[in-house]
Amino acid sequence: MAMVYNWQLGRAMTFPYEEKHPRQQFAFVFNTNRCIGCQTCTMACKSTWTFSKGQEYMWWNNVESKPYGGYPQHWDAKLLAMLEAANPGRQNWNVATTDVGSKPYGAFEGKTIFEAGPTHVGPEGAQVALGYLPTDAEWRHPNIHEDTAAGGRWSEGQHGASAQLPEHRVWFFHLARICNHCTYPACLASCPRQAIYKRPEDGIVLIDQERCRGYRKCVEGCPYKKTLYRGTTRTSEKCVGCYPRIEGNDEILGSDGAPCETRCMSACVGKIRLQGLVAIAEDGTWSHDPANPLYFLIRERRVALPLYPQFGTEPNGFYIPPRWVPRGYLHQMFGPGVDHALEQYSCPDRELLAVLQLFRTQRQILFRFAIERGPKVAEIPVILASGREQVQEIYNDTIIGFNKFDKEVVRITIEEPTFERPKEHHINSI
Ligand code: SF4
Ligand code: SF4
Repeated sequence: MAMVYNWQLGRAMTFPYEEKHPRQQFAFVFNTNRCIGCQTCTMACKSTWTFSKGQEYMWWNNVESKPYGGYPQHWDAKLLAMLEAANPGRQNWNVATTDVGSKPYGAFEGKTIFEAGPTHVGPEGAQVALGYLPTDAEWRHPNIHEDTAAGGRWSEGQHGASAQLPEHRVWFFHLARICNHCTYPACLASCPRQAIYKRPEDGIVLIDQERCRGYRKCVEGCPYKKTLYRGTTRTSEKCVGCYPRIEGNDEILGSDGAPCETRCMSACVGKIRLQGLVAIAEDGTWSHDPANPLYFLIRERRVALPLYPQFGTEPNGFYIPPRWVPRGYLHQMFGPGVDHALEQYSCPDRELLAVLQLFRTQRQILFRFAIERGPKVAEIPVILASGREQVQEIYNDTIIGFNKFDKEVVRITIEEPTFERPKEHHINSI
């Protein structure tokens, strides 16, 4: 076992392979506060990649209603329980020593799936990564418990006060998920055939269909359950990151080399998604690049957080946590960075507000943003996630996004312009 550095855990950890990093990493931010659970992303993916025989239950992109929903059912609760059984009472974070660069969320002192797997005692014995194989029944209902809320009982009179910040008493939220194209992929680590690889140019994780023999060790090992078995070919398949689009080589969008967002990202109706490529230094750290929208959201403002960082794969999918959800649940799901992220999101500063406008404004991947300053247009009293009051100053700034070739591809103001249709030309105008 090699030792590798996981910045999300704030420490080194064991991994079956030596550290090796791509030049750029496919990454994304999902704003859960905006997701309406419409499943447009899910269908955009399915109609592109998984519409064939044997793929009926295969959803590379899925959106589940938390806390009860899950695809496969209970995927996260099951693994959390296994980790707790492997290291009872010690799956904790030490937040006393945080460092914005090397350990932004503190240090995780519990066991990752790679540390708990080799000592796993169970029917299948030791594992490279602690995991389990879901049953067929658990894959059968991708949207089970849709919109089912937790908490609050009529008998306890809780429904009257159920929808007030900072925490709703009756709550659910939509969690959109794809493969996280992890820095330390458990699917890759678990494969006995070395059929899974991570591309050096963009960090996308792929399964070589020629080498795969369908042992399903990747399905067992991936903590997010994002590799899926196809009975008709007897191989596993997974999200391919729409790599022709990332290469700027999509036959429909054009092949000028300008990377474009994936199908699920560019179809998002709720404008919750922003995808990017972040530059990776030789030692695996993120190259300092605060003008990259993703770097800015994740590393500068720390408003977007990894999903279950304690699993240890260093996922490259990041989430702005939902504001209304009980904090204990969010801490378990996104780690100790939740309070800071919610504080930032509740009252975004001038720059952050501008970058938040970029979600779903352009199909091309944005590599850089710039802000042109505008006049102050409002002062709004805001109650922060902590309950503290603050006045938010809003400026009508203009944010500009640039593509890979530093060409301007989007320009948008904070106050979006509105246009009234003249009533003499349109009968429905008021
Ligand atoms: S999310 Fe799962 S399938 Fe995707 S790279 Fe990570 S471990 Fe592999
Ligand atoms: S398309 Fe966007 S808003 Fe709709 S479910 Fe998917 S992520 Fe959520």
